[in-house]
Amino acid sequence: MRIIDILVRRQSFSFEIFPPKGDFSVDQAEKIAIELSENHPDWISVTFSAGGSGNSERTADISQRIETNTGTTALAHLTCLGSSRSDVDAYVAKLQSAGVENVLALRGDRAPGRDPIDFTYASDLIPYLKQSNLCVGAACYPEGHVECEDPRNDLDNLKKKVDSGADFLVTQLFFNNDDFYRFRDLCVRKHIEVPIVCGIMPFTSVNQLQRMAFNCGASIPASVVRRLVAAGDDTDAQRAAGIDYACEQIVDLAANGVDGIHIYSMNNSQIGKITHDALVACGYLSA
Ligand code: FAD
Repeated sequence: MRIIDILVRRQSFSFEIFPPKGDFSVDQAEKIAIELSENHPDWISVTFSAGGSGNSERTADISQRIETNTGTTALAHLTCLGSSRSDVDAYVAKLQSAGVENVLALRGDRAPGRDPIDFTYASDLIPYLKQSNLCVGAACYPEGHVECEDPRNDLDNLKKKVDSGADFLVTQLFFNNDDFYRFRDLCVRKHIEVPIVCGIMPFTSVNQLQRMAFNCGASIPASVVRRLVAAGDDTDAQRAAGIDYACEQIVDLAANGVDGIHIYSMNNSQIGKITHDALVACGYLSA
């Protein structure tokens, strides 16, 4: 199913997993996808790692298993720095033969050995993917992308990305919903009119929160810090604080009429169930 066809009809609910890497096998990834599917998400997205880890190969494999073995729609990510048109063609052919119709088109992070070949920005990749008749999503950043010093430029670049053909947007994780509501208003003023799905990460430890916030440039509100101070060194309490906070965030987003809620579920099917139940309890999802 094309994700844009879901988003034009209703508010969505979705999950994200990362593909097998190292000891983590394709079968284990599939098991998590099956467990997540029990919550009836509109789609499960599968991240993509460029570089030597080998798991970029597996993004297409696990996306195929999601489509064929769970009956859930898959959204396969793709980064383009360091990729040629023929690399992208091979990936698209693999997705299409697997029945995957949705791709999240990304530039990817800059890294040594990952210089642009045929694509410099996501806005170069999007029209190329559209030629293959895929439904194409793109990333957006309510607090601005880490590399962009002026948020106005970032919004101009986002507008270019949407004008280049993105069907929908998924946000970077954020912890302060007001940042998202401000961003949504700015998008309206900028005539960015595609659906914007909110990406929320229920963090499960202080270390994970710090790592994610640093990598993504997401700010951590004082209310999160206070909860973590109260949790102290108790890892169960840290986990509970992170999941409770995310549930409060998504219930507030649901009440504020967002286009969709995407859970960065980090291969944790328990988090999938808890967030699903919170959205059922507030009436965003039906039981
Ligand atoms: P772009 O939209 O190309 O923007 C990158 C930077 O360039 C921004 O600062 C932008 O303002 C600027 N820019 C854009 N166009 C222009 C232009 N024409 N001229 C000048 N400047 C311009 N990474 C992975 O490796 N794998 C994943 O699976 C993955 N999934 C993600 C999913 C989501 C929902 C999000 C939000 C991010 C994800 N990322 C992933 C991280 C992403 O790859 C990085 O944030 C990356 O640094 C930027 O990718 P982008 O597609 O947003 O880039």
